[in-house]
Amino acid sequence: MSDVREVIIIGSGPAGYTAAIYAARANLKPLLFQGMQPGGQLTITTDVENYPGYPKGVLGPEMMEQFKEQAERFGTEIQFEEIIEVDTSTRPFVLKSDFNEYRAKAVIIATGASAKLLGLEAEKKLMGHGVSACATCDGAFFPEKDVLVVGGGDSAMEEANYLTRFANTVTIVHRREEFRASKIMVERCQNNPKIKWALNRAVKDIHAGEDGKVATVTLLDTQTEATETVETDGVFVAIGHKPNSDLFKGKLEMDETGYLKVQPGSTYTSVPGIFACGDVADHVYRQAVTAAGTGCMAAIDAERWLENQAHA
Ligand code: NAP
Repeated sequence: MSDVREVIIIGSGPAGYTAAIYAARANLKPLLFQGMQPGGQLTITTDVENYPGYPKGVLGPEMMEQFKEQAERFGTEIQFEEIIEVDTSTRPFVLKSDFNEYRAKAVIIATGASAKLLGLEAEKKLMGHGVSACATCDGAFFPEKDVLVVGGGDSAMEEANYLTRFANTVTIVHRREEFRASKIMVERCQNNPKIKWALNRAVKDIHAGEDGKVATVTLLDTQTEATETVETDGVFVAIGHKPNSDLFKGKLEMDETGYLKVQPGSTYTSVPGIFACGDVADHVYRQAVTAAGTGCMAAIDAERWLENQAHA
């Protein structure tokens, strides 16, 4: 049983690396799987200005490199592999990647969430250069600018309202006339003089100017199929998030949208020995600092749980 790890961490965003730092310093010799997007969502943003301890801001990818370094400093073993299957019914737990099989007494899930995107080529290319999927992260980079928010749910309304703190105008682009958002959120936007509406419109393409940043978008009228070009400084895609929890369907309790359920005030999932932290279990805050906080909680929960098992 010598190949059985005390704890395996799945995910390499702020939650995963923080869990690794704490688990490594507790001498649990964690093995961390980075997955397909090492560093997580922060690697698709540019400057991070709201993470405490970086008064001048920091680039998202750079910050995640520092998280990684700190986790490695205390002996975290890091694998660039994706876990594709977790057997939660056996003890120790069995985790499979494309190449190998691993066993662990405890598992920390920090697989995060992914912002849903429109699926446009330009959207990927201009991410961090005028395209964003997070107003809280990037809104402050658009002072006195004109921006678009795509979506008709509460996220879109909330982000649009938030962006009016910085932007000159915020236009909500929504493919229908009816909203999924709650009435009160829509009304708040309707009463905000900085917010304009482009209803029955879909973003068909996004174009950069000579400076490589977003300059115009092509909007499609979803009723007439006519197109128009509209100038804008930024495109905020707010069409929802998807927690990366598919691996655990039918194995761990999750809510109807796939967020893993944890016992309130802890990171305990529905299976003892499996802990969840960060965005995969949080549809409310979704911030790097809250993810790091719950990553710390997961490592402490796992450590105490392992300790109790050893004395059981
Ligand atoms: P959501 O409710 O699923 O809304 C997503 C919106 O994006 C919908 O209007 C949808 O249009 C649109 N959309 C989806 N895919 C699209 C695409 N490919 N192209 C264009 N538009 C697309 O997601 P959400 O707004 O992120 O909210 C998720 C949950 O969190 C909800 O339960 C919400 O109430 C909650 N939430 C609450 C608050 C709050 O209360 N403060 C804030 C944020 C989120 P259609 O309507 O046409 O499908």
